[in-house]
Amino acid sequence: MRTGITPAEALQIVLEHAPLLGAETIAVADARGRVLAAGVRSNRRLPPSDNSAMDGFAVRSEDLVSASADHPVALEVIYEIPAGGSSEQALRAGEAARVLTGAPIPPGSDAVVRQEDTTRDGDRVKIFVSPEPRTHIRDAGEDVDLGDQVLDPGAVVGPAEIGMLASLGRSVVAVHQRPRVAILSGGDELVEPDGDTSGGRIVSSNSYSIAAQCLEVGAEPIYLGIARDTPDDIEKRLRAGLRADVLVSSAGVSVGDRDYVRGVLDKLGCSLLFWGVEMKPGYPLAFGRFEAGDGPLVFGLPGNPVSAMVTFEQFVRPALRKMAGRQSLFRPTVRARLAERLQKQVGRLHFVRVDLERDGDEIIARSTGNQGSGVLRSMLLARALLIFPAEASELREGDTATVQILDEDFLAAPTPPFS
Ligand code: AMP
Ligand code: MG
Repeated sequence: MRTGITPAEALQIVLEHAPLLGAETIAVADARGRVLAAGVRSNRRLPPSDNSAMDGFAVRSEDLVSASADHPVALEVIYEIPAGGSSEQALRAGEAARVLTGAPIPPGSDAVVRQEDTTRDGDRVKIFVSPEPRTHIRDAGEDVDLGDQVLDPGAVVGPAEIGMLASLGRSVVAVHQRPRVAILSGGDELVEPDGDTSGGRIVSSNSYSIAAQCLEVGAEPIYLGIARDTPDDIEKRLRAGLRADVLVSSAGVSVGDRDYVRGVLDKLGCSLLFWGVEMKPGYPLAFGRFEAGDGPLVFGLPGNPVSAMVTFEQFVRPALRKMAGRQSLFRPTVRARLAERLQKQVGRLHFVRVDLERDGDEIIARSTGNQGSGVLRSMLLARALLIFPAEASELREGDTATVQILDEDFLAAPTPPFS
């Protein structure tokens, strides 16, 4: 087991061990945010046949060579084709067919004239324009041709993908499984939110923030409850999580007298790959996996609420995205200018909770205040985490630094992109 490694080394180890999950078949309507496990080929042409892009009249362009606003040409309307209708009867010289948008173009016709360029009189129509061949005709297969590879494996399913899958007649689709994340909290001081907080007890908020972080990344949280600080209770509950893809334990992985989680993991066959990452908050982070290769990835997150959330962000979240098949694993980052001086000791990378504000083209970052690893308020106010590099001891007011955007609404435009 390694200890005292950098966050970059820790992330590399985590991602190396995070497996791509297998496939499952689900309803297309439920697939938003999932990742395709297989490519999708088209079994049809879209649109299926040449069809009208307008409400108007299907014509033979050669009949209208002389038509103009001053000298309209009259044609006989021999039938009408609604969207979804069709006709086998070919147009002959001097004939037109009434067509509605989406209607298949009848045989013999090679253009559509918009209704606006005509006047109707019983079963005749006067046409005031001379269309080029193919005018207002959407070609069969212009969107998708038979056999086209329309979606590649690894595509993230969004509204357009869902619409396309539906257009191709798919009601189900193969996607990577959502990681199932078993969440354990541990500590004699912890109670559920409606529990008795007398005698110095506190609510196990980590269970809730971590479950929410899982949901946000599209993973499925499974709550294992609060383990008492005894090896037996910890073991019993950890065992209940062994079938999950990932096991996240918050607290109890530190070096305190009652930190039994590491010992229990060892007993269950999980070997830690690292413990202790040179970062703040979040030093006492552990990561392991089951030797036999059949158990979940195990993250032992620090118990302090901010440490738990920040370490989840930096290590668990990218692992879950990778397991679910995502190619892009990390939050967006931008450069921001510091509104104030920040200081720390050289050695550990600090994730400083900052608020962001726009100033013209620049982004200004300001500390959210008390950066204690138990001060959950600092996460509440944080729109981003500022990366204060390990080797630096000072960032001056006006310096720029990389910030990792947590609140992606910050990237939302304040006004519409048109006026
Ligand atoms: P530990 O890692 O057990 O030493 O816990 C470190 C700190 O985090 C202690 O102040 C704990 O009370 C707190 N803590 C541990 N687990 C949780 C939790 N599930 N929710 C909120 N705070 C916690
Ligand atoms: Mg504890």
